[in-house]
Amino acid sequence: MRIVILRLGHRIQRDQRITTHVGLTARAMGAEGMLLDSEDSGIEKSLNEAAIRWGGSFYVKRITGWRNEIRNWKDSGGKMMHLTMYGANLPDVINEISPEKLMIVVGAEKVPPEIYDLADWNVAVGNQPHSEVAALAVVLDRLQTTRGKDPLKTNFTGGKLEIVPNMRHKEVKNK
Ligand code: SAM
Repeated sequence: MRIVILRLGHRIQRDQRITTHVGLTARAMGAEGMLLDSEDSGIEKSLNEAAIRWGGSFYVKRITGWRNEIRNWKDSGGKMMHLTMYGANLPDVINEISPEKLMIVVGAEKVPPEIYDLADWNVAVGNQPHSEVAALAVVLDRLQTTRGKDPLKTNFTGGKLEIVPNMRHKEVKNK
């Protein structure tokens, strides 16, 4: 399953850190890229630096028209899932979500109501308010593990550094 994140409502300054974390989580857990509806170039810079250092082909693309991006995605056969605490609870709908191409919309401030109509699935990771980073991590994990792929075993080719897993101390080697 190809997965792309659409980050909506990012506020420069206020959301910089959390949007970076949305991108880092998306990258680490197997999404191919993140579309960012903002002029904020800082996010793109830090995620590109992560890819140069740690490998993989994750991208950040700044966009100006999220409606067009969703329309183009759907016209090319993709589906869209909107993460919202008001949606259907993930365990109740996970089995009906298996498109080849999935766009996952993650809000910052309140998302435009239109998103609820455009979404193929409005999905909650539990019907309680919490963090978009946590919601995204859980959804990426469940979507992939229920289909036999473990997102914690994603391969990152290229890059300069590689962590050597170690129970006792920090070990990093040059590639
Ligand atoms: N007050 C905002 C609203 O009305 O949507 C919610 C802000 S919340 C911190 C930011 C984003 O986190 C939401 O747009 C949604 O994508 C995600 N989120 C928060 N809780 C969630 C949940 N229980 N399930 C799925 N996504 C959630």
